[in-house]
Amino acid sequence: MIATIYKSTGSFYLAYDEAGTKWSCRVRGKLKIDNAISSTNPIAVGDQVQLQAEDEGERTAVISAILDRHNYMVRTSPHNRHQKHIVAANLDQALLVATIREPRTSQGFIDRFLLTAEAYHIPAIIVFNKADLLEGDYYEEWQRRKEIFEAIGYKTFTATAIQGEGLDALRQQLKDKTTLFSGHSGVGKSTLINNFIPHQNLRVQEVSGWSGKGQHTTTFAEMFDLPGGGRIIDTPGVKEFGIVDMEADELSHYFPEMRDRIHDCRFNNCIHINEPGCAVKEAVAAGEVSRERYDSYVAILESL
Ligand code: GDP
Ligand code: ZN
Repeated sequence: MIATIYKSTGSFYLAYDEAGTKWSCRVRGKLKIDNAISSTNPIAVGDQVQLQAEDEGERTAVISAILDRHNYMVRTSPHNRHQKHIVAANLDQALLVATIREPRTSQGFIDRFLLTAEAYHIPAIIVFNKADLLEGDYYEEWQRRKEIFEAIGYKTFTATAIQGEGLDALRQQLKDKTTLFSGHSGVGKSTLINNFIPHQNLRVQEVSGWSGKGQHTTTFAEMFDLPGGGRIIDTPGVKEFGIVDMEADELSHYFPEMRDRIHDCRFNNCIHINEPGCAVKEAVAAGEVSRERYDSYVAILESL
């Protein structure tokens, strides 16, 4: 039978088959993987797998094969940045919860998220949460940042998760899709998810907890069904997604506003730093590519 992985704890997995029956599964022996990629985990949340029932009564099963993945999102292993850990597979979209204040999500952090989503061909969405805190300068910063992302084609939403406000458009966006949720600790990701799957009640941290330091957090992704159709994948403890094995002259392909201009650069291996005749730098000078986005590009380039 075919089933979908909803939760993985490293050694065992929770899966639901097509009839909606829940199975507790594990891998035994050799696993058949069609498009094998080398990663620290063989199976991820969102994977479709072939199951062999072990004990029908206990609902335990063995995973014998993984079906082809449409896509996946990875993070790098904390021990080796060239090693991938698959966070989730078969996604329709990836959503980042960001806040302008308490805590402040940096432009660079958002841009690295967008870059990873681009590199793995997953449509990305940004949700600005804690709209109730946007007064004065914060309001202006929110507007400015929202404009930057929307101008280059990303959808943004603005919500006050704690009051359940501003969620209708987002609910539409989630309907019938599988959406990966991520965000810095404290931005209100759990509060937001609780609005969409009210009976699940993910644990919300105390107000003082958002510095994110010294908290014990689970690092296993988990998938939930939305009442109106579709699925949410929560990624507790995943701080950042990884950019694995990217070449310097490839990076600008994943910045949509740069991608459209790079063929006008004089050199076809231009990395848009000091080269003469660089169309990207000209666009930054003309205000057509945002300075903030370009700064993120440079910072990421240096980290490669
Ligand atoms: P997570 O770490 O991203 O899952 O964040 P939580 O959902 O645990 O929320 C962190 C803190 O932010 C909690 O104290 C929430 O009550 C608070 N919070 C969540 N959403 C909002 C919001 O829209 N506005 C305000 N002011 N606080 C919020
Ligand atoms: Zn260039």
